Parts: sequence; structure tokens; C-alpha cells
Amino acid sequence: MYYFPIVEAKGAVSLKYMAVLVAVLAAGFFFINYHKTVVPMEKVTIDAMTAEEKKSIEVGAGETIKYFKKYNQAPKNQVTIVTMNDKQVYEDLLVSRYKLNRDTAELVSAGRGFYTGDTIFINTKAAANDLLRIATTAHEFTHYFQNQMAPGIAGLAWLQEGMADTAACDILEQAGQAQIQPLPVKQLKLPAELSLANLKTDEDWIDAVNEYGANTVYAYSALAARRLISQKGFLCCINFYQELNRTHNIETSFKTAFGMELSEYQEKFSEYMKNDKDSIYYYNYYR
Ligand SMILES: [Zn+2]
Repeated sequence: MYYFPIVEAKGAVSLKYMAVLVAVLAAGFFFINYHKTVVPMEKVTIDAMTAEEKKSIEVGAGETIKYFKKYNQAPKNQVTIVTMNDKQVYEDLLVSRYKLNRDTAELVSAGRGFYTGDTIFINTKAAANDLLRIATTAHEFTHYFQNQMAPGIAGLAWLQEGMADTAACDILEQAGQAQIQPLPVKQLKLPAELSLANLKTDEDWIDAVNEYGANTVYAYSALAARRLISQKGFLCCINFYQELNRTHNIETSFKTAFGMELSEYQEKFSEYMKNDKDSIYYYNYYR
């Protein structure tokens, strides 16, 4: 199961990543100790290149742990957060170590972040300021929790990504890092043919991102997830993953967690997007 990135950017130079391992271990050790009294960061190793990057990633990870603690979730395994700033090195690593195919690796390495198994990658070319690094860390760390609750089980793509974005916005606010601004959805110029029913699997997701662009697909999914969460509460998302782990069935898990059929929500959301276009706002983060 893959988790897909947020937005595109072009990579460039620097091969420091492998070479700084020793320095990085020391830095990770420092941060683990430094944060002991603030947040339970002992499960997190941060491998970052600059002090600025480290600081924002540490805020993102710490605040995400704090956020999920409210829902009785804590990281069980060691999570490593690595920054990448060379697109080619990143892409090659995704192919060689994580066995992504070349096309997927190309797509992923252009995004702000990626989560797989025990590692979160932050692309510091795309997540180029502390706000974006915090948001990306929160988004990818949410995928870590999703996977911890339902390891290796294919989820519901729009909910997976939309939940991660909703959590990232909440976490930014919790951290006092940014104001989340509502913007008119008209601005997004969403294609009329977009529908949640076509954003269920990882394959659907890749197809949609290739067809409509990452921004559009993420924004649409975030709108759908945020609306669902505002009606039913974030805890229902936690319940969904726990049910998914138990049943391996997306439809029944959705029904148990949210108290309605998946198809019903998907249809209602389509209607809402069609009829209330002028009054819908989406959330984004700005300084
Ligand atoms: Zn994601």
C-alpha cells in the first residue's frame, strides 16, 4: 500500500543524505532527549539536513503524536523521518529500496512527502518552508497511524488522503503555527466529472492525479473528508481503520464507523458539490 504525495516541485543538487548518517544519529539522539519532557518522541528518529528543517519536522511529529493521543493512538514502532532534496536520488531510492515502479517513484518524488512502512520522507524542495514541513510531516504521520491501525490493508483512497489533510490542518492550528483560511471552492475550478466513487483504490488515485493534477484531487478529497468529519467527528475515522483491520472490508467498516452507507455519502457529497457550489469553502494554510 502506498501513500501519495501532496504537491509537485522540481528537485536538484546534493548527495549528503547517505554521508551524514553518523551526524544524523547524533542529532536524532539529541532531539529524542531534548523533547522527552514535552512530547513522547522516543519512537521518532529525525534525520534532517539543516537545523531549520529539524525544528519544523520535530514540531510536526510532536504535534501529530499529541493530536492522535486524544484518540488513544500512540506510535508503536520506531518511525524515521528523512528529508530529501535531490529528486533523482530520492526517486532511485524509492525504486531500489521500496520497490516502487519508476512511474510511481517519479510521481512520489515530485510530491512534498511520502510514507512507507517505517519511514516518512519529506521533500524539502517541495516543502520548502517550515509551515509546509510541519503540514507535510503531520499529513504523512497521519498515514503512519492509519497503517498502524490497519497494517497493509488497502484503504479508501479519498478518505485516507482527505483525513490526512484534515488532520494536518487541525495539527497546524493546534501548534499555533498557522491560520487555516477558508477559500471559495469556485477558485479550485474542480472538474464536474470528479467523484468519490472514482477515488477508491490506489490505482484510481494515481489515474486521477495524472488526469486532473494533484492539487485538484487532494483538495476534492480533503473537502469530502472534512465534511464527513465535521458531521461525524474525527474519532469515527479512527473507528473506520479499526473496523477495517477487523473486517478487511471497506463498505462494512464505513457503515459501522460513520453510520451510513459509503455509496450514500459519496452520492450526497456529489449532490452537495453540484448544488451548493457558490457557498462551499475549502481550507488551506497560509501565514
Ligand atoms: Zn497522503
